Amino acid sequence: MKDRRLLFAELSKRLKDYFGEPERPDGLNPLDVLIETILSQNTNDRNRDIAFKQLKQHFPTWEETEKAPAESVEEAIRPAGLARQKAPRIQHIIKWIENEYGTLDIGFICDWDIDEVIQTFTQLKGIGIKTISVVLMFACGKNVFPVDTHIHRISKRLGLISEKTSAEKAHSILGDWVPPEEAYSVHINLLRLGRTICLARKPKCDKCPVWDLCDYGRQHKDQGNPR
Ligand code: SF4
Repeated sequence: MKDRRLLFAELSKRLKDYFGEPERPDGLNPLDVLIETILSQNTNDRNRDIAFKQLKQHFPTWEETEKAPAESVEEAIRPAGLARQKAPRIQHIIKWIENEYGTLDIGFICDWDIDEVIQTFTQLKGIGIKTISVVLMFACGKNVFPVDTHIHRISKRLGLISEKTSAEKAHSILGDWVPPEEAYSVHINLLRLGRTICLARKPKCDKCPVWDLCDYGRQHKDQGNPR
């Protein structure tokens, strides 16, 4: 699928010209990123950040989170939504890691084969392919391509995947097409595009730097904001 790789390379270039080259974060703790990403499921960044901050304020270490009464963890993370589901999952995941590896410092997973990390951690409830890929990308600096709600939506509009393709399936399809060295840049800049221009309800196609690469944009640009 060489043409798709070229399309991603062009997308990456255009988005870098428009939004700039994103800098990779340094020194993030993989377990922090994992818990933060679980909190981010089905909510926005702001609510995720409030919940994560409250959780850290109430329980400064992950050991304390794991040993706390479930209701207290639930209360702390309530702003992120689905607290009754997320709290026990987070506690179970911390406990499982401690039992399995005897430590909560899971920096060693960054030395593992990517597929092994994905296989191991997606066995746990609350950790899907997107969640663990976010950990691999942000905390381990790996060139994977997590497909979140923005990237899923934009990829459908661009015509890269069909309307019916699930986010999970999109992960493996798009992951094969993204040139590895562009994965981080195109991921971050697609998020920026999704948050500012390719909005869920009313995409601003007339302001989009990639409209001519986009099926939806080519059909609707001259009509202003069609939806
Ligand atoms: S042209 Fe419109 S639909 Fe396509 S990526 Fe840009 S904003 Fe989204």
